[in-house]
Amino acid sequence: MESSNDFAAVPDAFQRLWTPHRLVYIENGQQPQKHECPFCIVPSMTDEKALIVARGEHCYVLLNLFPYNSGHLLVCPYRHVATYDEATAEEVAEMASLTQTAMRVLTAVSNCDGFNIGMNQGRIAGAGIAEHLHQHIVPRWALDSNFFPIIAGTKAIPRLLGEVRADVAAGWPASAPREAPSASS
Ligand SMILES: [Zn+2]
Repeated sequence: MESSNDFAAVPDAFQRLWTPHRLVYIENGQQPQKHECPFCIVPSMTDEKALIVARGEHCYVLLNLFPYNSGHLLVCPYRHVATYDEATAEEVAEMASLTQTAMRVLTAVSNCDGFNIGMNQGRIAGAGIAEHLHQHIVPRWALDSNFFPIIAGTKAIPRLLGEVRADVAAGWPASAPREAPSASS
């Protein structure tokens, strides 16, 4: 049985109803030790296993295992840095360009109406994995809010993560970087 600890993700307080559900995604309380930072580990895994949709030279894009909405992406530098001001100019530039591409791809494949984009800096600010910088990209639809989060601390996620990952990866433009970084870069 797979464990959610094998994936990189930012957990939150919500339980989730998977429709259809897989038990592996319903575990909670994931809090990795520093030496096993998931955002450092998953780039060595396959895209499918790691839920990675695109790989750049300095940063990569993956699906959040604990999505606020279907298609919730994270943009991370490969380097283990905690805060935005620690990132190099190259990392900042590629986080920005990957975010732009992610917006276009999500709009194309999911017809979303808007986005919430941002970073939680530090555990006090709500970062689930505070030690490794990551930017959230959450697609929004005009009718995506429902009463579940209010009455039950629960969100209904209509699609399996594997299906969403495949859709977003397939929609990622071929001209954008997709390969794992070479040893020389
Ligand atoms: Zn890390």
